[in-house]
Amino acid sequence: MNGDGVRRWSATDSSDGDQHREIRLDDGCGGGSQYPHVWLRNNCQCSLCTSTESGFRKQVIRDFRFNSKPTQLRIISNDKLYVKWDDSHESTYDLQWLLKRNFNEGQERHENQQVKWTAESFTTIFRSFKYDDVVKSDETLLKWLETLAVYGISMIKSCGLEQNRVKELAERVAFLKKTQYGETFKVEVNSDATNLAYRSTYLQLHTDLPYYEYTPGVILLHCIVQPESSGGESEVTDGLSVCDRLKEIDVDCYKTLTKVPVRWIDRGHDAGYNFHNVYVSPVICEDSYGNVKRINFSEHHRDSKFPVSVDKVHIWYDAIEKFVNIAYNEKIISTFKMKPGDILTFDNHRVLHGRKGYKGSRLLIGGYLDWDLIKSRTRVLQSQLANKHIN
Ligand SMILES: [Zn+2]
Repeated sequence: MNGDGVRRWSATDSSDGDQHREIRLDDGCGGGSQYPHVWLRNNCQCSLCTSTESGFRKQVIRDFRFNSKPTQLRIISNDKLYVKWDDSHESTYDLQWLLKRNFNEGQERHENQQVKWTAESFTTIFRSFKYDDVVKSDETLLKWLETLAVYGISMIKSCGLEQNRVKELAERVAFLKKTQYGETFKVEVNSDATNLAYRSTYLQLHTDLPYYEYTPGVILLHCIVQPESSGGESEVTDGLSVCDRLKEIDVDCYKTLTKVPVRWIDRGHDAGYNFHNVYVSPVICEDSYGNVKRINFSEHHRDSKFPVSVDKVHIWYDAIEKFVNIAYNEKIISTFKMKPGDILTFDNHRVLHGRKGYKGSRLLIGGYLDWDLIKSRTRVLQSQLANKHIN
């Protein structure tokens, strides 16, 4: 350790037999990190190996030497690592660049921390933004998208009653995801329609389009007409909180819902199309870290064909009974009533939504956005606004 607190970098080949072929960087203050030879050679930043314009890798993996070994290595100017390889190729790596790529399992899962909520915390996490601010200000647009990612729900207020607002709002982000119900769709009383959302009776908690492999990520619902008497209230439940609670009280039931396949189906006609969608997936889908990444839940769209052995049927029903009891528990579920001019926006992979029955007229205009596009727009805005603040 040197006394002045300044890092004095050194690099050593810390290879130990064939198992660990690595270069070790030490900062002279007790800190360090290790970089495998194969990864370093594969991520050489020279203009032969990496595009100077896009930063994309130019190496052809078919021709890559997987067992390259360094013949020389040293730190240059205390801020770069120089390596000469056994085929005479030379690589220079910026130390800051290397440190940002420090091997650290789980770093990606912390990029966007989702905050779970229940009935008690709903009023504090349910944030509103004004339509004009989202349209005119990139800062507000970013805040809305970050709020959606963290809490999975947010309201846009004062949108007016023009029926193209959902499209306008989506185009501030990217573009609407078209489905068999159109680019946008009307939710109103329509006795011809096959979809139960188009009737005025109680609409139980569900997620939209579980019968799509690429199910829409975010739902935008613009309230145009709402009955003034009681009825038509929205119900929402944070599916992540339901999963947490289920894991606490009965982890086997939770596991059942992550494993047992369910057949999701939609068959009917709308906007001049006949459709017949089928997707087979458990109710709870996890990512490779074991985090819940998507919930599929819709009684209307769960097929009576159940692709499991007969012994699994009771096990699954026992699990879904517990899941439903938690989702509808008054400590978990939240209720509110949208006003004309509101656009409710929420994560369809996470939030279960429903609606109380009503009498009279009610009209919503809905549309969908995909998370891929929202996350891309969020990163672009974060980078633009960070640069703006520096300049
Ligand atoms: Zn190179």
